[in-house]
Amino acid sequence: MKVGVVEKPGVLKIVERDVPKITSPHDVIIKVKRTGICGSDIHIYHGKNPFATYPRVWGHEAVGEVYETGSAVTSVKKGDHTVVEPIVYCGTCYACRQGRGNVCEKLEVIGVHRDGGCQEYFLVPEATVHKLPVDLTWDEAVLIEPFTIGAQAVYRGQVQKDDYVLVMGAGTTGLTAVTMAKLAGGKVIVTDLVEDKLEYAKKCGADYTINGKTENLADRVAEITGGMGANVTIDAVCIKQTFEQAIELTSAAGRVVELSFNETPSEIAPVGIIKKELTICGSRLQTKRFPVVIDYIKQGVLPLKGFLSKTYPVSQMADAFEYVEKNNATVRKVAISFE
Ligand SMILES: [Zn+2]
Ligand SMILES: [Zn+2]
Repeated sequence: MKVGVVEKPGVLKIVERDVPKITSPHDVIIKVKRTGICGSDIHIYHGKNPFATYPRVWGHEAVGEVYETGSAVTSVKKGDHTVVEPIVYCGTCYACRQGRGNVCEKLEVIGVHRDGGCQEYFLVPEATVHKLPVDLTWDEAVLIEPFTIGAQAVYRGQVQKDDYVLVMGAGTTGLTAVTMAKLAGGKVIVTDLVEDKLEYAKKCGADYTINGKTENLADRVAEITGGMGANVTIDAVCIKQTFEQAIELTSAAGRVVELSFNETPSEIAPVGIIKKELTICGSRLQTKRFPVVIDYIKQGVLPLKGFLSKTYPVSQMADAFEYVEKNNATVRKVAISFE
């Protein structure tokens, strides 16, 4: 079978491997149909993901049909359409006992710490597999994992009906946060420097857009919220400046959600947090958000049409990576097809 592997930083290859075999009664083998390319896959390719080890089969956004199941598997059967939840956790550490396996002490992210979904047949534990409606196309199904990231940010920010939610950055992650915040009943404000991205954010449900290049962000947020500030700010840019702005632009009793692994410190005085009693939290991967997103899909409320920018056959994997990198400003999602 064909497998897409980052042999070492900078070296991306398609190699031939044997089809995996069931080794545990809880194993499932998925015949992969699509694997999405994420910003983090590009980082792994360039050796910029501190958690990745090599060689690594990349891909944590895999969908496909169940091909074979171990003897103890009960939740899916051969032929079922599925999406893989890309985290494996211990279930017993403090974080897991809090129901937060996404930050487990022994967390293994599929496609980062262990081999990922860019392979024709993909062996995964049953616990990672979610069944999908059969009428969903594979091009739509491959968008589920990205939307769980936005769902997690909204969950961490405890977005409530009629909250003003400011989403900083209208890239793929920001757009999924916009969608989920809107579905949670929020009044969504999105800011970016690229007009085309802001236009697309409207399709995802943004009520207000602010172009940070031509408009004053603080003034506009004050204007929209009647001087109150955003009740929830989701920072999908996560640079020094946006983190500082997020603290400043969030209302009293508000929540600030940070979404990336940027290591550059920001300058934030405690008074800015305490005066307004802000809650500042991180949002990493997702916890139990797959059922939430799949449910939205069943209701037909996700803006899946047009979200996928392009699909490449696995034989053109290198071109797909190049396309994502060259079109960083406009690309939403690119997927590899195994059909
Ligand atoms: Zn991803
Ligand atoms: Zn754990």
